[in-house]
Amino acid sequence: MPETHEIIIVGAGLSGLSAAHFLHTSAPDLDILILEQDGRPGGAVRSFQEQGYLAEWGPHGFLDNNEASRALLSQTGLDRVAQKAPLGNFVRYVCHEGRLVQLPQSPPALLATPLLSPLGKLRLLGDLFKKPRAEEQSVGQWAAYRFGHEILPLVDAAITGTFAGDYERLSIDAVMPGVRALEKEAGSVLKGLLRKKKAAGAGMLPAMTSFPQGMEQLVTTLASGPNILYHSPVQAISRGNDTWEIHTETTTYRTATVIVALPINRTLALLASHAPPLTAIPTARIATVALGFTDKAQVPFGFGYLAPERENRFAMGALFSTHMFSGRAPQGRVLMEALVGGRRHPERLELSDEELISRIYDDLKKLIPLPEPPCFSKVLRGDGGIPQLEMGYPALLTWKDFLEQGLDGLHICGFGWEGIGMNDMMKTAKEVADRILHRVGGTRQTPEVRPVYF
Ligand SMILES: Cc1cc2nc3c(=O)[nH]c(=O)nc-3n(C[C@H](O)[C@H](O)[C@H](O)COP(=O)(O)OP(=O)(O)OC[C@H]3O[C@@H](n4cnc5c(N)ncnc54)[C@H](O)[C@@H]3O)c2cc1C
Repeated sequence: MPETHEIIIVGAGLSGLSAAHFLHTSAPDLDILILEQDGRPGGAVRSFQEQGYLAEWGPHGFLDNNEASRALLSQTGLDRVAQKAPLGNFVRYVCHEGRLVQLPQSPPALLATPLLSPLGKLRLLGDLFKKPRAEEQSVGQWAAYRFGHEILPLVDAAITGTFAGDYERLSIDAVMPGVRALEKEAGSVLKGLLRKKKAAGAGMLPAMTSFPQGMEQLVTTLASGPNILYHSPVQAISRGNDTWEIHTETTTYRTATVIVALPINRTLALLASHAPPLTAIPTARIATVALGFTDKAQVPFGFGYLAPERENRFAMGALFSTHMFSGRAPQGRVLMEALVGGRRHPERLELSDEELISRIYDDLKKLIPLPEPPCFSKVLRGDGGIPQLEMGYPALLTWKDFLEQGLDGLHICGFGWEGIGMNDMMKTAKEVADRILHRVGGTRQTPEVRPVYF
């Protein structure tokens, strides 16, 4: 007889672990099994510690402005140890004409910034008079139409910092569904934002969150509770009489409820036999190049910088890690984590570690006074890429709806479905858990205005 569980979750990344957490918190007696292909939990969330340096293969933090992630942190006690870097206290930089320029953080600073010409600043207000276009547009087309062409390098920086993507290919409806809804509702983004701000009152800027052991502390904490079978890649999911059969190489499991908590392309492959097959979407892979310097390095105070493509830099940007969170480098040392590759430059990931380190150092020292070469270096190459929600993405959501609404007991969440950020994953996992606990059918999230902080 196949082994039976009340709920089976495929994937012990942040999505699968969060779904298990929210289910267990509300219904501790539920019998849940997680099947994970790797020998460790966490998927893309993975931290690196060596010689007193603490760096990240994947995410470096998430904002504390999301209800689901706040609940998860307080329910696990992680809120008591979380490290916070409030956005209001930190500046961010963009590479502009070969130097680092502070991003304006307030309307007066926007008026003074050299990042836009006086005409470019005035053109931002053009948004108030531009009728919303109904058709799907790329992020670049949309931004240029609403705010003028001068804004594009800043949009590029924002998209590089979140998707490592290409703003000419990503779909605005997929990347910022909340902003699009606001634009259509109010007739203009600025009008919509003003109305929303009035209704919500003046809010504090959120804080970037991490943990003393890095982001991995979040997933190892979540993984300490549930029943997880490692080294168990799921090869097929089939439908029996009122039950799901989950097949690994050696075992078949039965369940009434299966949560597929995988990145989009994995889900497309695993569920291909249940719906018209769709082709895989592009992903953007990144390597983190962690460089430690003595305190002679004059790293400007702030989160870090991003470089738009037109600046022709080697690195997409760098995080000033020691400024953001304590415990990232030994006493008297500073750590920067530069990011390389992305949607536009996958070929750079083919370079050797030595070459990457040397090219990154050359690039950084043109922007930041670095009198000495790095005293520590490490290249972290993650396995997976960031799913690119490019033009045509709505067809994927239709495919997902078709499956979730047509097949009882099947739930889908994970990297690229309903967003790509950690907050998106925890929020969607909570919604899936709530749907299962309340036995209601699959519904799409109401689009939310997600602030772009990069
Ligand atoms: C380089 C990088 C930087 C990022 N930076 C940030 C950031 O700063 N802030 C932020 O908010 N977000 C960031 N993200 C996004 C964040 O990492 C993701 O939102 C999140 O980790 C996705 O979690 P997931 O569980 O959905 O997917 P994954 O992390 O991909 O986990 C999926 C899990 O499923 C397992 N699996 C796959 N196939 C099978 C199978 N057939 N059977 C069983 N198990 C399987 C995998 O081994 C993995 O453990 C970044 C992502 C990357 C790649």
